[in-house]
Amino acid sequence: MSNQTFSYATLAEQDYQQVNEHLAKGDTLDTLKWAYQQFGEKLVYACSFGAEAMVMIDLIYKVRKDAKIVFLDTNKHFKETYTLIDEVKSRYPELQIELKLPDLTLEQQAQQHGDELWKSNPDLCCNLRKIKPLHEALDGAQAWLSGLRRDQSPTRANTEYINPDPKFSSIKVCPLIHWTWDDVWNYIKTFQLPYNPLHDQGYPSIGCETCTLPVEDGADSRLGRWAHTTGKTECGLHS
Ligand code: SF4
Repeated sequence: MSNQTFSYATLAEQDYQQVNEHLAKGDTLDTLKWAYQQFGEKLVYACSFGAEAMVMIDLIYKVRKDAKIVFLDTNKHFKETYTLIDEVKSRYPELQIELKLPDLTLEQQAQQHGDELWKSNPDLCCNLRKIKPLHEALDGAQAWLSGLRRDQSPTRANTEYINPDPKFSSIKVCPLIHWTWDDVWNYIKTFQLPYNPLHDQGYPSIGCETCTLPVEDGADSRLGRWAHTTGKTECGLHS
């Protein structure tokens, strides 16, 4: 398998199936090793700095210390998230962490689209502040990593280890698809990883401060995301 050339343009459906069957026989580190062997520096991890991301970063660091990581800095994240990023930079100094900003400042966005676009048109806001910047960050990359887990939500239940991603003309690699929420926290506690303190205050999933609320214990982990809208549970990166 390692002699094959993998790219979004050349992979057929049966190739994805074959690779996914192969990766299902190994563990998470095997998936990461496979991905870095295939794509090398043309692999980018789009990191949210949520709980799953702490696991991903720790495992990635075992495979490739200078891995490229991009954080979509919408300018609207919690201060705790920015503090965590600084902690991660200290703990894993060789990682190449880029905070990718949108083209528009918040002021320019307000001038062009009105105040508080996240309330009036959250899809457009996510498009401007997340999806377009990720397109730019993935320019030149062959594949990207994501910490999606199948049990996070029904929209993620069919995610495979490697997935064709037509939105970004790329291959999306998801090493944690089979991990549970308990698996994630067992790993964080066992290896004493840093994590966002908001997780201890009822925020299982943490995005922009303007669009994230705490949820009741045991509720759907994404219920607090875009809770002020009807039905939106994804920013569009994964849908
Ligand atoms: S999560 Fe909210 S503030 Fe952040 S980009 Fe999306 S709509 Fe805008």
